[in-house]
Amino acid sequence: MNEVRDLQYISTRGGALGQFSDVLLEGLAPNGGLAVPETLPRLSSDDLERLRPLSYPELATEILGLFATDIPREDLAGLTAGAYGGGKFAADEIVPLTPIGQSLTLVGLSEGPTLAFKDMAMQFLGESLEYVLEKTGRVLNVLGATSGDTGSAAEHALRGRDRVSVFMLSPQGRMSAFQRAQMYSLQDANVHNIAVAGVFDDCQNLVKHLSSDIDFKRAHSLGAVNSINFGRISAQIVYYVWAWLRASDAAAEAERSSFAVSFAVPSGNFGNILSGHYARSMGVPIHKLVLASNENNVLDEFFRTGRYRPRDAENTLATSSPSMDVSRASNLERFVFDLLGRDPERTAAAWRELDETGEIDLSAERERFESEFGLVSGTSTHEDRLATIRSFHEHNGVVLDPHTADGALIALAHLDDGIPMLVLETAKPAKFAELIEEALGSPVVPDAETQALLDAPQRVLDMDDDEHALRAYISERALA
Ligand SMILES: *Cc1c(COP(=O)(O)O)cnc(C)c1O
Repeated sequence: MNEVRDLQYISTRGGALGQFSDVLLEGLAPNGGLAVPETLPRLSSDDLERLRPLSYPELATEILGLFATDIPREDLAGLTAGAYGGGKFAADEIVPLTPIGQSLTLVGLSEGPTLAFKDMAMQFLGESLEYVLEKTGRVLNVLGATSGDTGSAAEHALRGRDRVSVFMLSPQGRMSAFQRAQMYSLQDANVHNIAVAGVFDDCQNLVKHLSSDIDFKRAHSLGAVNSINFGRISAQIVYYVWAWLRASDAAAEAERSSFAVSFAVPSGNFGNILSGHYARSMGVPIHKLVLASNENNVLDEFFRTGRYRPRDAENTLATSSPSMDVSRASNLERFVFDLLGRDPERTAAAWRELDETGEIDLSAERERFESEFGLVSGTSTHEDRLATIRSFHEHNGVVLDPHTADGALIALAHLDDGIPMLVLETAKPAKFAELIEEALGSPVVPDAETQALLDAPQRVLDMDDDEHALRAYISERALA
């Protein structure tokens, strides 16, 4: 493998940021840019063949080893075994591929403890954070806001760990019963659930205020594990390689190196599909990367027109694929950096334009999205989502979660003859029982495990939307 020794990270707006362990705790550069590898590792077709026999944790060690060159290989193997071993994932193969009919194959990314794809990256992040903190003798108090999936994945990845605690804000009464149960039933001493009287944006604003108070942040070792975290992005690259390997297993040996697949990715913050962009840039034979948006279709608009026009909270709709209700895609800057020839000056200028005018106009580059990067997109609506769930249930006997249904719908519009279309399953339908009931007309009967989770005692602190109360609470309980 074209391995770079001591891989360095740089900011998309210029400047060196250190190595993997340095950017793991802070994805954001001091100049506002995002951490990216200085050079992207490459995988030749021989490399890919060498990776073919590996188990998922072994593959993760090889791929993550290309990015985390400052972590000794034996240690990394321990981290990936911890993340993807030990029965945390329901499927033995960790990420199963299942043909679901209508020319689509589902990539099962939701076999982890919180039934959503965020576990794939968060489990590795939990292992590697604990490792890096131990090495450096530091502690970390993770402060975050969640509307559901991210918070529960973070808590399940960090619960019971040394040197790290979690303060997670969630909006009172805005999450599904299942999502509440997944978070609030955790009894670990290092997990602090705080239900704020307000909406998700109020939670987010509290986090922003506290995190931008540099003194408070330092005094209490505050950090985040949000979607710009490069540890998460790198861990997600693994399943693109895995899915290509499994899809091409059946091809004749001589044809494997040219065996291409396409991926359809339900998208919000552009984290998941960015990892696909990196896998493709590294040499994995990916034909198209199909981005699916819901009604909050800022990204679809960008990939169709070249104009990026983020929306504010008032103009972000609450949809039935809630984990995609994002109108400012924090990871897009990393793609734009590559689009602009990895030029930090041009990238910084684009984000200055955004600050000044509220939009970035890259319409001159529009043709290149598909021709050079394979990126195409589409928008799905509530009615589309319901119809897609119904159609796959009726014709193919599978139940898709609402986000995955958005991906499947847009995938169908981008099929190419002879190229498998792999749809990333970003959540299990059990997480969104109400919408499934609306689509299929009959209530979803929880299985025994789900029922036990719903019945488990919950531990959560109700708090007003009050910065002072939150400061006091954190000051008292943060690890030092
Ligand atoms: C987070 C999430 C998404 C969006 O992923 P991004 O990386 O933010 O683009 C899609 N579906 C589900 C179920 C999610 O939890």
